[in-house]
Amino acid sequence: MSTSTFRAAPMYPSGPLHAPTTLTIDLDAIAANWRLLRDRTAHGVATAVIKADGYGLGVEPVARTLVDAGCETLFVAHLDEAIAVLSAFVGRVAPRVVVLNGLHDPSDAAVYAEHGIMPILNDLGQIEAWRRFCGARETRLPALLHIDTGMSRLGLDRTETGTLIAEPNRLDGVDLRFVMSHMACGDTPDHPMNREQRDRFADITARLPRAAEGAMLAASSASFLGSDYHFDAIRPGVALFGGRPNTVAPNPMRPVVTLESRILQVRRIDPPETVGYGAAHGVEGTTMIATIAVGYADGFLRALSNSARARVGETDVPVVGRISMDLITIDVTNVPGAKAGDLVTLIDARETIDDVADKAGTIGYEILTSLGSRYARRYVGAAA
Ligand SMILES: *Cc1c(COP(=O)(O)O)cnc(C)c1O
Repeated sequence: MSTSTFRAAPMYPSGPLHAPTTLTIDLDAIAANWRLLRDRTAHGVATAVIKADGYGLGVEPVARTLVDAGCETLFVAHLDEAIAVLSAFVGRVAPRVVVLNGLHDPSDAAVYAEHGIMPILNDLGQIEAWRRFCGARETRLPALLHIDTGMSRLGLDRTETGTLIAEPNRLDGVDLRFVMSHMACGDTPDHPMNREQRDRFADITARLPRAAEGAMLAASSASFLGSDYHFDAIRPGVALFGGRPNTVAPNPMRPVVTLESRILQVRRIDPPETVGYGAAHGVEGTTMIATIAVGYADGFLRALSNSARARVGETDVPVVGRISMDLITIDVTNVPGAKAGDLVTLIDARETIDDVADKAGTIGYEILTSLGSRYARRYVGAAA
């Protein structure tokens, strides 16, 4: 028999100590965003989703910030992520941690129980596995139940939901905390599917045994659709990190992320000289080009080639030429005296993660979760 060991591979064993680029994460803004969302609900019950390393911002500081702000329940996607969250609370009051991907491997049940982590039960087989596990332990262990109302991704499908409504004793012996579902079009407020999913979910939860803490539907976007989407708790993620809930109203969330770098080198070029790979950017006259140590390997997506904006001091300048793996080039012709070492801002309250995402043809979520591990990370705010 052979055994193998897997371990995480950090980019640098001791962290990026000499990085020219700094990612600043405002923990107070995360706390304020969570409170704003919670206070929008009539019931005042908000959980938080911090999957994918806290949307790329670092799960430990993000988790501690939210718990200090009053959040008691945190959602992640994977069991390993849940264990990582709990390791941030050694010697502190730990939050409840729920795993969205659920009990797909019944042999994980003991790991859930050992750590006090809650699985989401996504099909009848998972319900049965958890029920048996509870029976064997002679303890009603907590779990959530996911009903698919339109995502066709995870959760009990229509047939299984019908079976469970007809045979609710399948949940006997399980400490069911919440029944939940997830919205497909919450970021499009006038999409007809919103009302359909909401009504279907309300109908199903009325016909299932009531969970101890009730029902839960809304993520960030649906939290802005109105109080009839709030049920007994909301489950926001991206809005906590400054992402816009939709495009129809101004974004009420506080920006969380600032990405700044320093010019590595400045040069003057004249036609017919060009900039970067593929000679993709030509110039019309004498042009000053500055180079910055941020590239697609740092999550500054290659799709931003020739479209992203940067700021040198207070002057708005275009990113020109293709984004390389480690470098981008900006046109600083309009910044007299621009020189190596000058500060360049790529993401902040003026050029938000959503602005960058729009230019890259993606969503703020992808910008956040792509933020690179070569940046120096600076956490600011009371919780830092
Ligand atoms: C990611 C996720 C959320 C959070 O979504 P946001 O749009 O980031 O608020 C909530 N629920 C489920 C099931 C998710 O997968």
